[in-house]
Amino acid sequence: MINETPQVLTIAGTDSSGGAGISADLKTFAAQGVYGANVIVSVTAQNTIGVQQVQMIPANMVTNQIESVGTDLKIRAFKTGMLGDAVTVQTVADAIKKQQFGDFILDPVMIAKGGARLLAEEAIDAVKKELLPLATLVTPNIPEAEVLSGRTISTHEDVQKVAQTIQKLGAKNILLKGGHAEGQAVYDYVLLEDGTHFWLKSMRVNTVRTHGTGDTISAAITAQLALGKALKTAIILAKSYVDATIREGISVGHGHGPLNHLA
Ligand code: PLP
Repeated sequence: MINETPQVLTIAGTDSSGGAGISADLKTFAAQGVYGANVIVSVTAQNTIGVQQVQMIPANMVTNQIESVGTDLKIRAFKTGMLGDAVTVQTVADAIKKQQFGDFILDPVMIAKGGARLLAEEAIDAVKKELLPLATLVTPNIPEAEVLSGRTISTHEDVQKVAQTIQKLGAKNILLKGGHAEGQAVYDYVLLEDGTHFWLKSMRVNTVRTHGTGDTISAAITAQLALGKALKTAIILAKSYVDATIREGISVGHGHGPLNHLA
């Protein structure tokens, strides 16, 4: 029997310890029941303690990987993660415009939880101008949303205003992740293209094993869209997947450990 498993793509960086980036994306894709392709834009020497080195992949190699996927696979939805620098952001924007990869989930990765910069300061404008207008959904956390909007967030009202500001920059739909705020409950905010908006509340799990949560939620949404779910449903299913991978836990490394995708 021919298997019609939907095909998806991640364009991102690696994590040698297997917790974040491309590793988190591919594990999530498999767990959600889609086939995952991967375009690598940077290689990191990284573990649960931190990022020790970043090596960017040359622009023509990034372009060629995207074209290789595009000429052969049928990508129904795709995401971007760590993009590193302005040249790579521009290269990815140029290359994806030539493809028909379906829904685009933009995870505007900027700084790792351990403090490492995963997007150069000078690349932020390129993300706003080149990628946001192409995205079906953008998934910033609070610090990323503050950078994209140029406003600070301290209240729930600020969250809503910042989401509106980001929507005006061209992103159709926004998932603003609230995990960086204080408190036992985590409030994520969703603002959709038609103006519909809602909060997703979950209880915080007190754990250090949250490495790659942002990658995982954007990958799970990408997978669910490829499986034919409406965006709102895809976000809700992805959120509950991430919550389960955090709750179950797995003991890897000495620091900020990964999620359990076998949950
Ligand atoms: N390394 C890479 C390659 C990533 O893409 C990401 C996530 O976006 C991270 C590290 C950071 O992961 P976290 O902030 O969850 O530790």
